[in-house]
Amino acid sequence: MKTNQIYKLVERLGELLKVDARQTGAEHGLLPVQLEVLHYLSSCNKYSDTPMAVTEYLGQTKGTVSQTIKTLEKKELVIKIADDHDKRISHIDVTPSGHKLLSQSIPTAMFARTCSNLSQPQQQEINAALQQLLVTFIKSNKMKSFGICQTCKYNHKNEDGSFYCNLVNAPLTDSEILLICREHENQSCD
Ligand code: SF4
Repeated sequence: MKTNQIYKLVERLGELLKVDARQTGAEHGLLPVQLEVLHYLSSCNKYSDTPMAVTEYLGQTKGTVSQTIKTLEKKELVIKIADDHDKRISHIDVTPSGHKLLSQSIPTAMFARTCSNLSQPQQQEINAALQQLLVTFIKSNKMKSFGICQTCKYNHKNEDGSFYCNLVNAPLTDSEILLICREHENQSCD
């Protein structure tokens, strides 16, 4: 069993990524958690852009997430929008300034440099192995998958090539199916 070795590798990578995120965030006046929340909000769909979903995804406390969103709002990197049907729910949209900051900082410079020193086959191999580790971790611990529509059991492809979500009963655009969702369930769970 390689449990200890894998744990040490993932732990070390996690530590290095934290250093990387701290440096990158500091260049833009952001703490690592603020950069993480901004990145999550830019990658999730409209069913997952609430403070509660951010809390679930990052495993942070409600207080930390609330404070982080307030800071991002003050910096005009995100904007709160009340839900059309339930005014108690807020959706958090990333502003053009937020998207611009992310395009300049994610992937971080250190990480991009690392990947540029790996061949395409090496990158594909690492990607597949990490994907397998992530999916197995989530399944083994019965956690929310936060995957994308393309791999979700509720995603239905219509005859005309368009997509439809059978959970929320709504059509999905080509760009929406690439976003992460708090309601995602793996096709293989069927
Ligand atoms: S198809 Fe799945 S991932 Fe996509 S919006 Fe529906 S529940 Fe979410």
